[in-house]
Amino acid sequence: MAGSEAAWQAANMGVQVVIHEMRPEIETFAHQTGKLGEMVCSNSFRSDDDEQNAVGLLHWEMRAANGLIMAMADRCRLPAGGALAVDRESFSDFVTNTLMDHPNVSVEPGEIRDLPEDGHWIIATGPLTSSALGTAIQAETGAERLAFFDAIAPIVYAESIDMDVAWLQSRYDKGETEEEQKAYLNCPMTKDQYEAFIDALLAAEKTEFHDGETAGYFDGCLPIEVMAERGRETLRHGPMKPVGLTNSHKPEEKAYAVVQLRRDNTLGTLYNIVGFQTKMKYGAQTDVFRMIPGLEHASFARLGGIHRNTFLNSPTLLDDQMRLKSKPNIRFAGQVTGVEGYVESAAMGLLAGRLAAAEILGIHLDTAPQDSAMGALIHHITGGAEAKTFQPMNVNFGLFRPVDGLKGGRRGRKDRYKAYTDRAKSEFSQWLKGQDE
Ligand SMILES: Cc1cc2nc3c(=O)[nH]c(=O)nc-3n(C[C@H](O)[C@H](O)[C@H](O)COP(=O)(O)OP(=O)(O)OC[C@H]3O[C@@H](n4cnc5c(N)ncnc54)[C@H](O)[C@@H]3O)c2cc1C
Repeated sequence: MAGSEAAWQAANMGVQVVIHEMRPEIETFAHQTGKLGEMVCSNSFRSDDDEQNAVGLLHWEMRAANGLIMAMADRCRLPAGGALAVDRESFSDFVTNTLMDHPNVSVEPGEIRDLPEDGHWIIATGPLTSSALGTAIQAETGAERLAFFDAIAPIVYAESIDMDVAWLQSRYDKGETEEEQKAYLNCPMTKDQYEAFIDALLAAEKTEFHDGETAGYFDGCLPIEVMAERGRETLRHGPMKPVGLTNSHKPEEKAYAVVQLRRDNTLGTLYNIVGFQTKMKYGAQTDVFRMIPGLEHASFARLGGIHRNTFLNSPTLLDDQMRLKSKPNIRFAGQVTGVEGYVESAAMGLLAGRLAAAEILGIHLDTAPQDSAMGALIHHITGGAEAKTFQPMNVNFGLFRPVDGLKGGRRGRKDRYKAYTDRAKSEFSQWLKGQDE
């Protein structure tokens, strides 16, 4: 996704591009063909609603930027209500043929095993980056800054948390500043609530691991349901331990268990549920997590998961031009940068392709504006996200800066989303216009 889009964008700016693709010679457990633009699982690019949905807005921006992935998706579109679903075979045929027919693009089959020392490169090798290249990246970045599995805890919109129930406090009030001492949001549980929660967790439907996905996943990121299976009290002694916390609403009551949420972005609009990585099915997750006092009406920016997924600690490693700080001749794009999803990956490819081509042509190009969907994503992964706990992110309105004067909460949501998408379209159009001049 990202590599194809990046090649298309750079080639259209007049730069000669070589695509290196390891398939079909070297396969992954998910890809089935040797074609470019292969959709490894679902055949959907999700919502196409560019007024009320952040993914739909990303579609809009990619279409406005003459994106290859969107153009080919529109060509292969299947009926799917408000979603953009495609015929996957013809989609990857069109992507492959369009790139092969481009006078500025050539394809060289074969694996890249080392980080190139010179020339301009975009590494868009995805969640299943080959192990040789993964090792080479780790040698450059340090092993702890390239992960091979994600462990995604659900993320909740701050405005949907009931603050009459939850309170702000770090365990034992740790921290130098007041901000540090109130870094966590705490949701208390009684014994009955805890027992009911464990029952629901054990009964919930779970997703299976794909073949080849399991190796090593138990290292330090057990799904909460696996912890619960090990004993009903395990969570109460792990991520749900109630010690070092006093409920500011009811100081005299000692909670039996406490669920903690931690800020997930600088804007403070998103909170992740600490230690709650899970393989529960999405429907089950919302039911189970809304049993947590204070989260009864929670809206989720992202649900939890654990997958085989190669990704960088982008907040520490990449600059806002998507270059590896230690080797600026190399850019990264796509899922390996810590975004998640076909659309987000392709969007990061679009941006990297334009930024790389501009650099080669000696033109200064700012990264996408922060109030666009593309810009919100790049600002998150290269700056706004918490580096220490960085996990892959899909595009969502929680990444957007608030629009002044609009009502918070569920009621104002429709107007708010429209204001975000209007502002994004205007900013993104200006950014594109600047490149045409
Ligand atoms: C099993 C699985 C299921 C997924 N399902 C979905 C889904 O349903 N919907 C969704 O939106 N997202 C899904 N994703 C997440 C993600 O959006 C896709 O993986 C998406 O294809 C990522 O785009 P990308 O361009 O970053 O990587 P890819 O599309 O995977 O492209 C990377 C390319 O790099 C090649 N490559 C890797 N290493 C090397 C090397 N060393 N040298 C040369 N070539 C190399 C690979 O062969 C591949 O063609 C899934 C991921 C996985 C692993």
